[in-house]
Amino acid sequence: MKSPENFDVVVVGAGPAGSSAATALAQHGRRVLVLEREKFPRYHIGESLIPFTYHALERIGMIPRLRQSAFTRKYSVQFVSPSGRASQPFYFYNRYDRETVAQTWQVLRSDFDQMLVDNAREHGVEVREEVEVVELLRDGDRHVGVRARTRDGQEYTVHAPVTIDATGREAIAATHNAWRRRDPKLNKVAVWTYYEGALRDPGIDEGGTTVAFIPDKGWFWYIPQHNNRVSVGVVADGKYLARDGVKDPETIFHREVKENRWIEEHLAPGRCLGEYWLTAEYTFRSQYCATDGLLLVGDAFGFLDPVFSSGVMLALKSGVMAADTIHEALSAGDVSAARFSGYGAAMSSSMENMRKLVYAFYDPEVSFRTVADRHPSVADDLTDCLSGDVDKDFSRMFAAFAEITQIPEPLPFGMPKGFETKPAMATA
Ligand SMILES: Cc1cc2nc3c(=O)[nH]c(=O)nc-3n(C[C@H](O)[C@H](O)[C@H](O)COP(=O)(O)OP(=O)(O)OC[C@H]3O[C@@H](n4cnc5c(N)ncnc54)[C@H](O)[C@@H]3O)c2cc1C
Repeated sequence: MKSPENFDVVVVGAGPAGSSAATALAQHGRRVLVLEREKFPRYHIGESLIPFTYHALERIGMIPRLRQSAFTRKYSVQFVSPSGRASQPFYFYNRYDRETVAQTWQVLRSDFDQMLVDNAREHGVEVREEVEVVELLRDGDRHVGVRARTRDGQEYTVHAPVTIDATGREAIAATHNAWRRRDPKLNKVAVWTYYEGALRDPGIDEGGTTVAFIPDKGWFWYIPQHNNRVSVGVVADGKYLARDGVKDPETIFHREVKENRWIEEHLAPGRCLGEYWLTAEYTFRSQYCATDGLLLVGDAFGFLDPVFSSGVMLALKSGVMAADTIHEALSAGDVSAARFSGYGAAMSSSMENMRKLVYAFYDPEVSFRTVADRHPSVADDLTDCLSGDVDKDFSRMFAAFAEITQIPEPLPFGMPKGFETKPAMATA
């Protein structure tokens, strides 16, 4: 094995969380290495952005690239009942600045993640693809770098005072340390595929996301992408989707299409591209967000049911926040777990706000429209939270929801190891 290389920070994984953390650290003048197992561009799910991805994308210099991209512009979200009745689309510009936050994108993740990596490289980050991290190295309790393996089996070590785990749902640190904690209730299954030539609404509505309901609080996403493609998937309880012993993703998908007339009609003129994807075992959080010399970002820290398309926003936000925190810690010469309490508290609070709305969404007794009609003063809070402006105090809104549903207690996880007590957070 070669002698170890040295960097300020080593980042494991080049998804949105890893790339944004690496870029923001390079902006601070740090020497950063990203190790990514796959060869980019590579396929990934998570294609609909929400308005408040804007600030993190702007921070790392991505907005001009996105404006020049072919990605479909997204201005709105609408909801459709099983009978096919569509709500009035909610246009983000009714609340946010038209030139910035109010327009977002439906991306192809292979291209989007490639753009994030190119952007990181242009900021001075070294990114090595087809290199898998097989071990997080420790000196006692302190993380000191990684052991990596190339495609042709060569191994080498990289030393750095801080390691960032950005490995997505594989969550290398949480998995190896047995920190992975499943959410007690949010265990859905998703089945999805792609269509070409399916119906698109005209004009400004062309790029809107549609959430279309099926019985038992299941739902379809319908995400119009560029190149005349549509990403379409169904999410529901595994038991419901597999009823009558059906297990094959293709059969599950087409059976559910018949449960929503709007989806059926919109897919009718299109051609399915043929491949079907299925994923189970959904929401989880890592017991800890950090320990000495190690910080978890994006899905590696916590994954939330995708109904509100919050994943990429949380990944980018955590990446940038982690970078700022690590830069300060390195400047202070102290990268111990204690430095990461603020990060853990802020990200846990953001995830909890989204998680509470996800719980409410899946309660058959709850309609967001009814809550907003009954309590007009919380309608804007609801819009803000759903748009990803998750750092606010939403206690008034969750008090309104608590009249008709049980709002879950925050998961008692997410702080650095050894610093489990959260500073005061906004809770209902
Ligand atoms: C069904 C479904 C639908 C979704 N829809 C949406 C949506 O519409 N909008 C949205 O915002 N989000 C959505 N998400 C969530 C979104 O996919 C994730 O939140 C987002 O990709 C998280 O980014 P990340 O950078 O944390 O992880 P990832 O994007 O998963 O990136 C992790 C990277 O780490 C690499 N890696 C893993 N292990 C190693 C290792 N040992 N060594 C080196 N590299 C490694 C992987 O190859 C990968 O490139 C959806 C998720 C699911 C499951």
